Amino acid sequence: MTDILSAIAAENGIIENTDTPNTDTNNQAATTDATDEDQVTFADLNIAKPILTALDRSGYTNPTPIQAQAIPFALAGRDLLLSAQTGSGKTAAFVIPVLDRLSRATSFDKLTKALILTPTRELAQQVHDSVRTYSKDMRGLFCVPLVGGAPYNGQITALKKGVQVIVATSAFGMGVDKKDVKLVIHYDISDSLENYVQEAGRAG
Ligand code: AMP
Repeated sequence: MTDILSAIAAENGIIENTDTPNTDTNNQAATTDATDEDQVTFADLNIAKPILTALDRSGYTNPTPIQAQAIPFALAGRDLLLSAQTGSGKTAAFVIPVLDRLSRATSFDKLTKALILTPTRELAQQVHDSVRTYSKDMRGLFCVPLVGGAPYNGQITALKKGVQVIVATSAFGMGVDKKDVKLVIHYDISDSLENYVQEAGRAG
């Protein structure tokens, strides 16, 4: 029964990963069953070359289970609802498809195409770091974190120059010009549909 429900949920882009992540001794790699030789690789997922290079540089050849499940869906342009623990690799599970989509453009204009909303500024920073890591070989691709509690000069300068990806706390996300935004990620969603609709509405 659980398998049938999982299949129906997966068919509709609702992916829940309940694995407890294994964290290596350096607290770097967080994945499960990453040693299986038959395991799918990032190259198998048809991810754009510059992102593959960045993943390789980070030492990641195999997607974690949540990544292996989510990335093909997202690359196909489907909406997704992911549920996975911290350390499962869920950040890259949505960052990689966002970057892949942006990388398909022949050249980067300076319009904001992707908005990633996080509940805290620490998470915004973490997601921003992830975007930077995996987009290192995408020349002309810029990302800025919009958060409170820090000097705003850098954020304002970046916005004036133009960035394709904004990672913002929900409050700051409200002020973003969303005219050209095609991809919206809510890092965290409320436990009730009502609150979610309100939050999504506030963020625009
Ligand atoms: P999360 O907080 O769930 O996004 O997990 C983040 C941790 O997982 C970070 O330490 C990443 O460097 C690591 N990570 C992301 N993708 C992979 C991967 N495919 N294989 C191993 N570790 C990964």
